[in-house]
Amino acid sequence: MAQVATAPATNTNSRTSTDLGLVMRILLDMDGVMADFVGGAMWLHNKPWPFVGDHVGNKAWDILKAWGMSPVDFWGPMGRTFWAGLEKTKEADATMALLKDMAGVENICFLTSPCLTEGCMEGKRDWVHKHFPDVPLLIASHSMTGLAAKPFCAHNEAWLIDDYHENAWKFSLAGGNAFLFPRPWNDCWRDEHEAVKLLRDQLESWEALQWGVSR
Ligand SMILES: [Mg+2]
Repeated sequence: MAQVATAPATNTNSRTSTDLGLVMRILLDMDGVMADFVGGAMWLHNKPWPFVGDHVGNKAWDILKAWGMSPVDFWGPMGRTFWAGLEKTKEADATMALLKDMAGVENICFLTSPCLTEGCMEGKRDWVHKHFPDVPLLIASHSMTGLAAKPFCAHNEAWLIDDYHENAWKFSLAGGNAFLFPRPWNDCWRDEHEAVKLLRDQLESWEALQWGVSR
């Protein structure tokens, strides 16, 4: 029988977009935004930091290519223990605090695409339960032909926060809102040092726009 968690108390002290008559639904990517996947992969494969020189931006997304590894060698050892044991990124706690303040915890959900390695989904669930037990998790698994699942969650009140440029682009095309979290492996890499501030700015701009339209 599945375990059922008791419902957390609602924080009535924080201002949320719901207080303004708005709903801002946050779909939060895990790897590269909240979980330090690259750091974990470097440790697992004993490889160096791959984003050096001009090897940054969208074109640097594929670290398998940078490390000269096959998909089987790269993904194969990444089982439940690997995914569950990833460190939080240095921005993870500040990002979550910001999102809870702006959207309310009831409007935040992790949205992640697992690899095919056995144990990946369980490890991701373990990670969320360990670090952010008050936030639910949606699994967005690609089709075997490569069709992405995240765009199916897009709507005009949904915000995808993701570090992969294609996810952000496809989500926006599907009618949602997207924030490309600045990282060395996307074209916003120069802004990584102020990523959380930029996220706040973008959400506040959207909130102000919606508030103006709905008044
Ligand atoms: Mg990611």
